[in-house]
Amino acid sequence: MDAELLRQYLEFYRDLGIKTLYRQAAPANRLAGETACPTKTQALAQQSGTDAFVCQPGKSEKPEVCEVLPDMAPAGDTLTVIQNDIGDCKRCRLHEGRNKIVFGVGSERAPLVFVGEGPGADEDQQGIPFVGRAGQLLTQMIEGTAKKEGIALTREDVYICNVVKCRPPGNRTPEPDEMEICGQFLSRQLMTIRPKAICALGGTAARAVTGHKEGVTKLRGKWFQWRDIPVMVTYHPSYLLRPYNQEPKREAWEDLKKVLHFVYD
Ligand code: URA
Repeated sequence: MDAELLRQYLEFYRDLGIKTLYRQAAPANRLAGETACPTKTQALAQQSGTDAFVCQPGKSEKPEVCEVLPDMAPAGDTLTVIQNDIGDCKRCRLHEGRNKIVFGVGSERAPLVFVGEGPGADEDQQGIPFVGRAGQLLTQMIEGTAKKEGIALTREDVYICNVVKCRPPGNRTPEPDEMEICGQFLSRQLMTIRPKAICALGGTAARAVTGHKEGVTKLRGKWFQWRDIPVMVTYHPSYLLRPYNQEPKREAWEDLKKVLHFVYD
């Protein structure tokens, strides 16, 4: 790969909000002239505002995930193409414990996309996002708020997906490298659908989509942007399931009203 193409890759990923890339270490038997040059990669990365790490299996100070740079989002990308590209993904450690990859559900032309954190146990079993208790609450919130506000809308009219497509063990928060590796597919999903707005559910999704580091209580109820698409942040439905969270529940309904009116009025 020449320097110009590498620069284009790095700028492309920076525009997607992906700040860290992992390059596969060169095989030991590669000819010297063919070896990836970390210094050059990192210099270009610096110019383009992206971090580029060379992954060296066996060294523990960097995540041991090797990812070759995939093609940029091809013109005419579709959800089916993206799902095929994900394939039987083993790009990060989350594949080890998963049952099914949870790609996303809904229409390619949905004007509104909800982004959660990652699949839970029910989603991992069924391969569909937000089908467990939190998912049932999300469906109720979408459909209940829409009905109250006089908007004809069911869950099938929106698109729902997650930052990571495989269930993190024990439902732990996804690690930064897992989010970045899987994030390329989320970016392609969002670029393909090009919704009128995105609703980020909870702190992990909010940080992944907006790039802001604050907690969800600071970010919720406000508009941000992913590329040129407006993003509303609200609480994750699992958080709202806790019985004492009455005030966040009220706030989440307010957030949802805002985003639904923005998209459907
Ligand atoms: N929580 C999430 O963030 N996503 C799901 O799909 C289910 C629960």
